[in-house]
Amino acid sequence: MIPAAFEYYRPTDMAGVLSLLEEHGDDARVMAGGHSLIPMMKLRMADVPHLIDLQSVVGLSDIEIGADDIRIGALVTQHDIIDNAALAEVAPILREAALQIADPQVRYMGTVGGNVANGDPGNDMPGLMQCLNASFLVVGQDGEREIPAREFYEAAYMTAREDNEVLTSVTIPMPKGGYAYEKQKRKIGDYATAAAAVQIVKDGDICVSAAIAMTNLSDTPIYSAGACDALVGTTVDDAAIKAAMAAMLGDIDPTEDNRGPVAFKKHVAGVILRRAIERAWSRA
Ligand SMILES: Cc1cc2nc3c(=O)[nH]c(=O)nc-3n(C[C@H](O)[C@H](O)[C@H](O)COP(=O)(O)OP(=O)(O)OC[C@H]3O[C@@H](n4cnc5c(N)ncnc54)[C@H](O)[C@@H]3O)c2cc1C
Repeated sequence: MIPAAFEYYRPTDMAGVLSLLEEHGDDARVMAGGHSLIPMMKLRMADVPHLIDLQSVVGLSDIEIGADDIRIGALVTQHDIIDNAALAEVAPILREAALQIADPQVRYMGTVGGNVANGDPGNDMPGLMQCLNASFLVVGQDGEREIPAREFYEAAYMTAREDNEVLTSVTIPMPKGGYAYEKQKRKIGDYATAAAAVQIVKDGDICVSAAIAMTNLSDTPIYSAGACDALVGTTVDDAAIKAAMAAMLGDIDPTEDNRGPVAFKKHVAGVILRRAIERAWSRA
């Protein structure tokens, strides 16, 4: 459990980070909380001869709540999300989801930027951000660009971010309606067997919009447009929920691993999605 030797850098501004990435190319990697990267280095699953620590870069740790959207800096930790009462007031699903990630020790270190940039299908925030229709701001030598969360994930650990780009913030349109983040895991601190993020807007007795994303049931998070369509225009009765579950099951592609065989994962995914829809609807 000892990583290979590496050079350690701690620049204080983004220009310093980008010039180190340029200089060392594929041999360099940024580190935020280190709670995914360091274990990978210790297990020798990641070889990082030049490690660039982001912790001293100024301007990446703010949470800004505007009239129409929320901006979360890349170095904001999962604990910061839980601890921010104003944020929980306007976007309670963020706290509900963050509380289900790992354990307090990990949440003190793990960052929002690291969680969404990592590309690990087991991470909870990518699906959450897809549900919330967030976008990710990345910066490289050619400047900044914004990438929608729903277009960011290409395969396990493969994203639309180039290796020489750094994710600086996440922007979330102000969430509306009822919400729920439901997660099934084997034990406290574990990654999801299945998780569902749901936001539902209701007008009278009718669902007028829905957003649904699933975690750890494919090699990327899955935003299920079909499951959303199955709810919109209905009273979210049993038939509509069953239709949403069927659409979601058509979109996911789980594989067998130590969390169970494919049939079990699909069963858990359905149960978790039903619970999340029912809870979001009751809060809408
Ligand atoms: C025991 C344990 C249990 C866990 N359980 C869960 C869980 O249930 N759910 C969950 O979601 N997570 C879980 N995690 C992961 C944890 O949330 C991580 O901290 C998080 O996924 C990554 O955040 P980090 O800041 O530690 O990133 P790092 O480990 O520092 O980085 C992870 C990857 O992202 C890249 N990266 C980091 N920041 C940036 C950036 N700003 N721009 C570009 N690239 C960047 C790094 O180069 C690296 O490749 C667990 C971790 C542990 C150790």
